[in-house]
Amino acid sequence: MILDPLSLFQASLEGNDYGTAILCIDSKTKHYEILLQNSIFTKLEKEFDTLYFLKNKIQTNNFGTEIIYKVDGKILETSFGHFNYTEGNPGKHYTKFFVRDITIKQKQEEEIAWRLRFELGVASSIQILIQKPSIRESLPQALYQLLYFTEMDSIFFLKHIGTAATETFEIWVNERKTTEFPILSSKFQNLNWNKEGISRWLHKLKNGKLIYLQKEKALPKEKWYFEESKVETILWIPVHFEKQFLGIMGFQKHTPNFVIHHDNLLIFQTISRWMGLFVQRDKDLTELNRYKSSLESLILERTLDLSRTKEELERAYKAKTDFLAHVSHELRTPLNSIIGFSKLIQLPEEDLTGKEYLNYIYSGGTRLLKMINEILHLMRIESGQIELKLSEFKPEDICRQTLELIQPQADAKRMEIRFYPPIQSKTMTSDSGKIQQILLNLLSNAIKYAVHTFVEFHCEWNDSNLLFKVKDFGPGIPEEDQTRIFHSFTRLNDDGKIEGTGLGLSISQGLAEKLGGTIELSSKFGEGSTFTLILPENRK
Ligand code: ADP
Repeated sequence: MILDPLSLFQASLEGNDYGTAILCIDSKTKHYEILLQNSIFTKLEKEFDTLYFLKNKIQTNNFGTEIIYKVDGKILETSFGHFNYTEGNPGKHYTKFFVRDITIKQKQEEEIAWRLRFELGVASSIQILIQKPSIRESLPQALYQLLYFTEMDSIFFLKHIGTAATETFEIWVNERKTTEFPILSSKFQNLNWNKEGISRWLHKLKNGKLIYLQKEKALPKEKWYFEESKVETILWIPVHFEKQFLGIMGFQKHTPNFVIHHDNLLIFQTISRWMGLFVQRDKDLTELNRYKSSLESLILERTLDLSRTKEELERAYKAKTDFLAHVSHELRTPLNSIIGFSKLIQLPEEDLTGKEYLNYIYSGGTRLLKMINEILHLMRIESGQIELKLSEFKPEDICRQTLELIQPQADAKRMEIRFYPPIQSKTMTSDSGKIQQILLNLLSNAIKYAVHTFVEFHCEWNDSNLLFKVKDFGPGIPEEDQTRIFHSFTRLNDDGKIEGTGLGLSISQGLAEKLGGTIELSSKFGEGSTFTLILPENRK
């Protein structure tokens, strides 16, 4: 069997998944006839006025693609495709006409575009929220951005601030696309939801449910809201963070017949979850700042307290110093008389007891006078009344003078002082009198407290510092007492056998500091001690 070309065409047309017809058009008259058509075409042909459509297209020679939006919502796409048909009539030309139902495809594309737009809006508003530290500043901008990308007309955010009993809200955002739509009434800040007939809404929201409601579906007692706000559809979403109700985010549509697809409702809910996070972050930050500022004021208060206490202590210290100085001074005069007169009293040779008592008076008085003098000296150092007499001298000369003065004390205890002068002989500028006083005290202590045959006395240069070392091989000082002994009136193992006031080292340290130096102690209990007076080459 030989098939004619048209039958072959017909067979191939049926293989197409869209409506196809083969048209034969008279080139002169522009009349056309449909030579062949497949069954899809036959079905779609009924959907619109094909005859009129084709006639119009051919007359105007308009063979471009055209999309027909039908009143029932259907969308049809039409197009033409010319081809050469050599077996055909020479005065005619042939063309293919396609028509297909693209309603679903178009809807899907629209949906994708909408979704993309929406997601872009969500992304950009979240970006704004992330970038700005204060949500109060960024939220209006972020939500307006979101509104711009959605099909909604107005948006608000009600921040829940009151307890469950009072239901107070603060309006944080109240935005709309154009001024023809009213914004949320300020009465929502303190609304009696029950009295207004919309307590059902609040109840649902607080329980984590959203309200998606059209005006016609609202209860009669709820209608007032739609009328007053000129709203047709509301989508109110609760904002929660870890089950805590933080507020309401409201999207509203002011024009009728608007439907939100279920999937899109989910996106709106995701946004509200984000909001929860940001509002909570803001809450935490505010709380943190509140703690910070209360902590700061607490610190300020404590600092004030401390400075007041310090002032009081300083005043008390000064009063003590003044008192001691005064009393010491008052004591010195009669004491001098007692000592002087005890020397002058002549007792008969045989009155040994009387002489012994007189001796007690004399030595006791001298000790007391020494102590008073030391107290006065310490007072003067502490109150900064000490004047320095600077001069240039060789340190070894001062050492030798000191040795001469201390020699009788060493002799009395049958102790030898081994002196090691500096290798390099150069001068220093300082107060030689004060240095001598310190050295006398350190050497006298070494002789007093160290039971040994000798003490070492070193004088050496260490760069631009001079070190005077008094080294003994006596009992040593326990580590825990090494700082304490520099405090006034501190004496270790004071059993009254060794004379002393506990003031020598504190006076010496005070003087050393006055000279720009210090006294360091290194000692091992049971092995001996080394007191080192370190002084700068030049006291400025
Ligand atoms: P004082 O010698 O008048 O008691 P110091 O202030 O000079 O006062 O000394 C304080 C205390 O330090 C002494 O009472 C003594 O216990 C201890 N001390 C000082 N030097 C030595 C030393 N070289 N060896 C052991 N103990 C010492």
